[in-house]
Amino acid sequence: MKYYSTNRHSPDVSATEAIVKGLAPDRGLYMPEHIERLPQEFFDCIGHLSFQEMGRMVARSFFGSDIPHTELRRIVGDTLSFPTPVVEVEPGIYSLELFHGPTLAFKDVGARFMARMLRMVLKEDPREVHVLVATSGDTGSAVANGFSGVEGIRVHVLYPKGKVSPIQECQFTTLGGNITAIEVDGVFDDCQRLVKSAFLDEELNRHLLLTSANSINIARFLPQAFYYFNAYSQLKRQGKADDVVFSVPSGNFGNLTAGLVAQKMGLPVKRFIAANNANDVFHEYLKTGVYTPRASKATLANAMDVGDPSNFARILDLYGHDHALISNVVEGSTSSDADIVATMRECYEKTGYVLDPHGACAYRALKQQLRPGETGVFLATAHPAKFKETVESAIGTDISIPTRLAAFMQGKKQSVGMPADYDAFRAYLSALQK
Ligand SMILES: *Cc1c(COP(=O)(O)O)cnc(C)c1O
Repeated sequence: MKYYSTNRHSPDVSATEAIVKGLAPDRGLYMPEHIERLPQEFFDCIGHLSFQEMGRMVARSFFGSDIPHTELRRIVGDTLSFPTPVVEVEPGIYSLELFHGPTLAFKDVGARFMARMLRMVLKEDPREVHVLVATSGDTGSAVANGFSGVEGIRVHVLYPKGKVSPIQECQFTTLGGNITAIEVDGVFDDCQRLVKSAFLDEELNRHLLLTSANSINIARFLPQAFYYFNAYSQLKRQGKADDVVFSVPSGNFGNLTAGLVAQKMGLPVKRFIAANNANDVFHEYLKTGVYTPRASKATLANAMDVGDPSNFARILDLYGHDHALISNVVEGSTSSDADIVATMRECYEKTGYVLDPHGACAYRALKQQLRPGETGVFLATAHPAKFKETVESAIGTDISIPTRLAAFMQGKKQSVGMPADYDAFRAYLSALQK
């Protein structure tokens, strides 16, 4: 399978090259040349397939011509080592719980898959690989944990000082070894800008093998399609698979784009809702047809504090830049911090279900926008205990911290301070050269 750049000014590459490069040289994002519809027999028996069987089908469709099937089978098996159950919250509304992985966030799926793919495609390369990742919280922990201890790969996690929750911070600052946390004096967009500048710095790239682990990387973004199939399969078994609407808490839009890809592969989804917090440039684009990136603002759902979503380019590309087509498939939604708090409280009081601030945006969108007869599924992208203080003050009750989350809090925080300035970051990277 060939991968092209959404900007169309770089040569097509193999999956292997797209995974190693991350971003295309023309600053575009890589997209698969074809998105194949899975065979009808697959959908006929989808209710009887295991999560791993579905994952293998999807993975083969994108990587099967570049990566041996036995390797893919092993990588998918290792990645999907935890369940993604669909839980009924109230009649017609389901939570797709994506927080049962090692760092209790949906990003574990993409990060674990990518770490294993990268290690495989680079196993013959003698050079050390440096993975750069900008995070507003969950990416850093998922990637750091996915890559921790992987030989030949060093991870540098850039995060905005004082803007990630204490639990999130512990999940990537305490690992040590091949993982370095860099505390940037700025906001998430500054972290993202530093990382992008490094990738485009030709001189630096002559000496250092750099790659990204943000959702611009195909090996992180595409495997997120796995759990849309798995959710559908679970609904099918319950006879609830007609007119399914997925509501996706969205920041950089990797997760939603993977859902759109699943739909193009034939998954019968009626429509999607892109649930934004107050950072709602996509919502505005849907309403007006005009896309105006802005600086991000801090909200309670901080993993969605993105002012210029990187995967927007992929959504435009999937639908030939046609605003009417896009707004036909995706509806928008926006929630203020006050909405998030009220939603967490109301949902808890009425149903007993504890939402995290991100899931709350998506649940609220379904409550407002679901039509009669439709089945709504919102993606619960993080465990509520990751946002303990916010959740407890909203619902007025203490929540318990799962053991594997508490374990991260024991470690010692280690990080490197960095101004939001490329010269400083460049100097740091240059010093890594051997
Ligand atoms: C990253 C993240 C999101 C946003 O996902 P995107 O793929 O960037 O849109 C939503 N919720 C949580 C908890 C996250 O960590």
